[in-house]
Amino acid sequence: MKTIEDSEIKALIEGATQAREKAYAPYSVHTVGAAVLDADGAIHTGCNIEFVTLQQTVHAERTAILKMVASGARQLRAVAVVGPYSGVPCAECRQAIWEFACADPDVVIVSAPTDGEVELLRMGEIYPRPYGPETKNIDPRKV
Ligand SMILES: [Zn+2]
Repeated sequence: MKTIEDSEIKALIEGATQAREKAYAPYSVHTVGAAVLDADGAIHTGCNIEFVTLQQTVHAERTAILKMVASGARQLRAVAVVGPYSGVPCAECRQAIWEFACADPDVVIVSAPTDGEVELLRMGEIYPRPYGPETKNIDPRKV
């Protein structure tokens, strides 16, 4: 696993925890926060945002990734998730993370469930057979 500094892990969890407080989840009452560390060391945070139809709901990880991309960054190094249950990104969020992982299976997932222990995972562990932009010869850093 690539090294990630303890200070970066701490900052990611703090960012995700603060973002969780902004979650808009009146239907599920399932609040989640996420924080993305980009290749330049900046942190982008996000929370889940629900809509009454529920299909349009955006998970915290994707909110953070959208904010990262909107800021101009195109590569992430780590993603922290703070919330109930496992704190591991769902399948759709794994796909979104992989889009900007730049084909690096060592991108770190900091799973920080509110009712459990912090766990460091690699994208290669939780998404072992990815389908991403590299399959179409796209490098997000060059787009
Ligand atoms: Zn998700």
